[in-house]
Amino acid sequence: MCGIIGVVRLSKARLGQPLGQIIRQSLEKLEYRGYDSVGLACIVENELVIRKGKGKIKDVSVTQGFDRLNGDVGMGHTRWATHGKPNDINAHPHRDCTGRVAVVHNGIISNYSLLKQELLARGHRFMSETDTEVFAHLIEEKLAAGYGGYHAFKAALMSIAGSYSFLALITQEPDKIFFARRNSPLVLGISSDALFVASDIPAFLEYTDRVVALSDGEVGFIALDGSVVVEDLASARRVDLSGRIRKIGWTPELARKGGYPHYMIKEIHEQPRVLADTVKSLLDDGSYQRAAEVMLSSKRIFLVAAGTAHHATLAARDALLTLGGMVSYPVVSSEYALHALGVEEGDCVVAVSQSGETIDTLLALREFKERGAMVVSLTNMMDSAIARESDLQLYTKAGPEIGVAATKTFITQVASLVFLAAKLGVMNGKLREDEYTAFLKHLEEAPELVEKNINISEPSAKELARILRDRSSMYCLSRGLGVPLAKEGALKIKEVSYIHCEAYEAGESKHGPISLVARMFPVVFVASDTGTFEQLSSNLVEMKSRDAYTVGLIPAGENHTLAGFDYTFTLSSALPVINTILFAPTLQLLAYYLALSRGYDPDKPRNLAKTVTVE
Ligand code: GLU
Repeated sequence: MCGIIGVVRLSKARLGQPLGQIIRQSLEKLEYRGYDSVGLACIVENELVIRKGKGKIKDVSVTQGFDRLNGDVGMGHTRWATHGKPNDINAHPHRDCTGRVAVVHNGIISNYSLLKQELLARGHRFMSETDTEVFAHLIEEKLAAGYGGYHAFKAALMSIAGSYSFLALITQEPDKIFFARRNSPLVLGISSDALFVASDIPAFLEYTDRVVALSDGEVGFIALDGSVVVEDLASARRVDLSGRIRKIGWTPELARKGGYPHYMIKEIHEQPRVLADTVKSLLDDGSYQRAAEVMLSSKRIFLVAAGTAHHATLAARDALLTLGGMVSYPVVSSEYALHALGVEEGDCVVAVSQSGETIDTLLALREFKERGAMVVSLTNMMDSAIARESDLQLYTKAGPEIGVAATKTFITQVASLVFLAAKLGVMNGKLREDEYTAFLKHLEEAPELVEKNINISEPSAKELARILRDRSSMYCLSRGLGVPLAKEGALKIKEVSYIHCEAYEAGESKHGPISLVARMFPVVFVASDTGTFEQLSSNLVEMKSRDAYTVGLIPAGENHTLAGFDYTFTLSSALPVINTILFAPTLQLLAYYLALSRGYDPDKPRNLAKTVTVE
């Protein structure tokens, strides 16, 4: 949600193109986050130049001449409107009355209305309807009161309530970009050619993979003399960065499409490799052992996540039950306030988030921790806010995921969580050693089988997408351990193809949903849990007798009764808990090709943002 990039160029020799072009390219790398308008500001001969407008980067950058803007200090923003319509005027950057301050912002200033009234009463003129603009005027007042640029920035922040990552340019100190973060992501990128501050690493990955993830409450600046200053806003204490600079180990290639037409399909195809990386790291990483110990000794286990990660936690709940005999409670992050009522000392919460910045999950984690729960996190982002605030950090090794619809992070999350469940199972005696060894063997073979299933499914998914492209509604059904994947498949289809797709436990058909089924109504059966096939085949019959168009994802080589689908994907399979991983790519591919056959761009689903950073 919203993209921010600030660039201070240190070497013209190595970063020769106009700064506006560098910023525009960085903004393109953040496009996946979702936005409605775009803008940038550069300091040119100690003056601020601002260009912005509603629309796509590729269009606005041409009409506004982004690439021609030069200078050594500048910032850009893609806006995802929360306060004020998406239009040219509300696009960021916003400026003060004097034109000496420009700000960009991700988040919501919760007390902006009062601040705006006060500022208006003191004679300030507002151009936009945004909450953000108050911050520019607050800085202006501090400058007028005699503060230097950095002090004005910090002093203005003191009046702001809500969530933010802010960047500001102030002509009084034209060599610097000021930044601050509270509840919205911000990372520094450090190289000898340039310094960066951005919402996410892909924004500057072309130039550096040395990063510092900023913490909430941190404020500072990057400057033309190469300095990087970070302070804690509340205590005004300087933060020592020496231990915090990490080499992320991602190559620029990972943030490019690498010959694929979309990030989504590239990331679907990356799954065998990132799954192999994740499985390898699971086996080498002692933190899983510690996490399993924490979970085993806790009174209750809450699994907190949103969206796709929530579906991964549903798979975790089932794996904990079947492999570890343990009951756990999945909680949709945004509902945390209700569930927190039941949390107490001795409980444990597993927070799962691709970005590690999902605001609802972060707030849930804080609330649960406050009530005495131990926090284990599983994220794809080193040092993300969720990782930092948890007692124990686990990581998926999915690499940067840029497609808005999560794919590779889902299967790596499921792999990590079922592994954790199996570990718990061994520890509490529910899983025998030989069963655990067999489980591990299946998990290690999973990357190869995922690859096979992708290859088998891709041409068929393309063909099926052509058959189903004009449908407006469909179902995705399963039973037992297949249900979380049915839910995830339905979410993928909704997200990118805009076909209404509902998932539910197949046994529920008769209790209501079957009333919608008529001739050619598509019903996808996720048959990944062999233990449920008998009942599932009755559900298939009940759909067929209503002339539904039935699609089956079934395991190859099984001598089972499930047959007679109108369209069948016969897939390599393993244990049912692992089949969630093996069968997922087929549904992702179906969603992808449905989007294409309906003429939509799967990388830019309407109304969606990759990382949800506002509540
Ligand atoms: N609340 C601000 C606005 O509506 C910032 C939105 C964003 O994060 O892009 O302009």
